[in-house]
Amino acid sequence: MREVRRWWQSLDPAIRLTGSYLLIIMLISFFFSVVLYYMAAGQLSEGLRHQYLRFGCGPGCDPQGPVGLIVREELAIEKGRLIAQLAYFNILILIMAAASSLWLARRTLRPIEAALEAQSRFSSDASHELRTPLSAMQAEIEVALRNKKLSKDEAINVLKSNLEEVIKLRGLSDSLLRLARENGLDYTAVDLKIATAEAVSRLQVLADKKHIKIVDQTDSAIVSGDYISLVDLISILIDNAVKYSPENSQITILSDTSSRFASLTVKDNGPGIGNTHLTRIFERFYRADVSRTGSGGYGLGLSIAKKLADLHQGKIEVKSQAGKGSEFTLKIPVLKQGA
Ligand code: ADP
Repeated sequence: MREVRRWWQSLDPAIRLTGSYLLIIMLISFFFSVVLYYMAAGQLSEGLRHQYLRFGCGPGCDPQGPVGLIVREELAIEKGRLIAQLAYFNILILIMAAASSLWLARRTLRPIEAALEAQSRFSSDASHELRTPLSAMQAEIEVALRNKKLSKDEAINVLKSNLEEVIKLRGLSDSLLRLARENGLDYTAVDLKIATAEAVSRLQVLADKKHIKIVDQTDSAIVSGDYISLVDLISILIDNAVKYSPENSQITILSDTSSRFASLTVKDNGPGIGNTHLTRIFERFYRADVSRTGSGGYGLGLSIAKKLADLHQGKIEVKSQAGKGSEFTLKIPVLKQGA
């Protein structure tokens, strides 16, 4: 029994599911065939009684006599024919059910397999990203410990460098937690203008360091959303614009509140994104041309932004060409126009 179970477990999941579907269908078909057989056999026996009577073999007639023999032979032939018909019928059902069950099993399993594949890719990407800073820290600590004459300054440098890696790891774990969090959002009426102003003030220091001017021309538009998440979302778009823009450039934030969807566009004069990368930048851990952009990011920002936009029934669109800057537009349903 254990062998059978192990063999069953070793089969392809689509085949196993097909087998289960098939077993259920064939059990039902067999059950109805048996019921049908007994009903038909009952009618045949009734016919037999009539035959006896027709040939003058009433009560008291010897059932072993020639009339009884002929009629019983006929009955046996009819029953045999009925069994054969039911068997053909069941074989036909078996063939049709096998084909349709296999089709159905493959269709059912496709999204599950895709989800599992995405999950395992995510886990392995996340482990890979966690390993890199951990390995760097381990190597630095080991080298420092092996140095018997380690000076105070050298020790401080190791600690500083480790602290940088710890900060990066914390950022990564925060991002992973935000991706895993499905709910917990507190929806209120949020003015996009206020949320954008807060996001801009968060990134002002970074922009100043690169002498980047942020021009915020956002109009007021009230949307239903979680204030903190919306500020996070807009911050991700502005953060990327700052990260990838050259020094002394300008980032412009524009809004359009004329339709049912308020749109907020963050426009930069950075390196832009080539067509081959555009379709993939919202994937987790995807970084376009790391060597050129050299951002040191984990490729999680836009996937978090997309998830937050989805949670607000909104979407993010991107227009960009290599060498010609980028425009990221957040579209989100409006509650009512602001003053
Ligand atoms: P990262 O942490 O690497 O910035 P994101 O998910 O935010 O991760 O972005 C994914 C990739 O998209 C980035 O690695 C970068 O190559 C590209 N990208 C995003 N925003 C911009 C931008 N404003 N200009 C140029 N490239 C960008």
